[in-house]
Amino acid sequence: MAQVGSSGNPLRVAIIGAGPTGFYTAEHLMKQAGLAVEIDMYDRLPTPFGLVRGGVAPDHQRIKTVTKVYDRIAAKPNFRFYGYVEFGTDVTVDILRGYYHQIVYCTGAETDRDMGIPGEDLKGSHAATAFVAWYNGHPDYRDCEFDLSRESAAVIGIGNVAVDVCRILCRTPEELEQTDIADYALEALRRSRVRKVYMVGRRGPVQAAFTSPEAKELGEMADADVIVLPEEVALDPLSKQQLAKSHDKGVERNVEILQAYSRLTPAGKSRQLTLRFLASPVELRGDAAGRVVRMRMVRNELYEEKDGSLRPRPTDRFEELEVGLVFRSVGYRGVPLPGVPFHDKWGVILNEKGRVIAPETKQPVLGEYTAGWIKRGPSGVIGTNKPDALETVNCMMEDLARGAVLAPAHPEVAAAEQLVRQRKPRLFSYADWLRLDEMEIARGKALGRPRLKFTRVEDMLAALGR
Ligand code: NAP
Repeated sequence: MAQVGSSGNPLRVAIIGAGPTGFYTAEHLMKQAGLAVEIDMYDRLPTPFGLVRGGVAPDHQRIKTVTKVYDRIAAKPNFRFYGYVEFGTDVTVDILRGYYHQIVYCTGAETDRDMGIPGEDLKGSHAATAFVAWYNGHPDYRDCEFDLSRESAAVIGIGNVAVDVCRILCRTPEELEQTDIADYALEALRRSRVRKVYMVGRRGPVQAAFTSPEAKELGEMADADVIVLPEEVALDPLSKQQLAKSHDKGVERNVEILQAYSRLTPAGKSRQLTLRFLASPVELRGDAAGRVVRMRMVRNELYEEKDGSLRPRPTDRFEELEVGLVFRSVGYRGVPLPGVPFHDKWGVILNEKGRVIAPETKQPVLGEYTAGWIKRGPSGVIGTNKPDALETVNCMMEDLARGAVLAPAHPEVAAAEQLVRQRKPRLFSYADWLRLDEMEIARGKALGRPRLKFTRVEDMLAALGR
């Protein structure tokens, strides 16, 4: 038998998850000199692109053009997409071991973290991740309900996801019409009575997790005033020191932008977005019907940890905000995959540089790898996943070179295809996706919008005539 990775015996790789990291992993594999490789990419959704489709804000159309790169990767003859095939049910790791030399988990971080405060389960209190998936037309979230008849909403956390949620709540229907937001979300937001939005950070402006283009964009919305309290963005001595030491241009820019907001006089626009710092929610309070009506917060001060980082510490000062909606945006979290070692506390697959590690032996699991958010946690931007995927692919190549790969009984491309079609007859291929993509763009064009998404699997099947 020819050596694995040569033209007579190509390396067979299954990539689980069709988000950016899955595509970067495929790209790095395809670029390996002298390597014959055949890649099958699986996703539980019929459509590819993970968070680029289901996470990137609809008013950030330019960021989504990155999918052109993924289309080019998918067009290679040694790539196949098996959409609507769920790992753990439709195919399992035990099954895949019989068909592939290497398996790479790139499933991202699918769920959210909670704040761990009383009242978090009240009606009207939601994970920002659910709201994001809803307005982006994710089939699993399209039927979520958000009571947008309330006047005030709080978004907890000051990362880029919180900023996205604030923008979507504050944009006018006319602004939203220019985006590929799901049609039902556009209709719901058209009727929205939310006029006051608070974005609440537990630390100060120097520690904000959002990036400066996003901070600046908040001030550019058509009909929303941005309000910042001058005393909350006047830096405390520890933050000043931290900023001076770090020479971080992005943070300097954030502080400039926020301080400039604090000097603005509100122009009387119809919506108000208030950015609050150094405050932590301690309790959500509800009415008799169990719906959020108020959020109690404690004022924080910063102190220096042994590692030099500045952490928040509660003071004895409290305040309350009247809010009928709360979105916690305190970070995404990975979910365990059936049969794959997981580090519960960190919310990632147990791994070393991308090699999956068995918890009992602390040794690499033969033939199993991971990349992206499920490997390192939810950090960085889309492009951060490219070097991350390369690190994993380098491990895969080292292991291949020393023969440390699985020995599948059925390494032929056709054998895997037959198996998957048998287990999931309604699967979606990349050609199916390209047809749906064309239809979504045409449907959008008819309405003067960039795209009108299919948000139900049944509608996708019907559109394909199946
Ligand atoms: P993130 O950047 O990690 O921000 C999480 C925020 O939640 C931080 O402000 C954090 O504050 C706060 N937080 C955590 N626990 C909290 C608690 N118990 N109470 C109050 N606040 C709490 O996460 P993210 O916003 O979900 O974004 C995930 C990643 O996607 C980031 O790398 C982000 O840059 C990226 N992303 C990028 C874009 C873009 O490029 N436009 C858009 C969306 C997302 P502390 O700092 O105090 O912990």
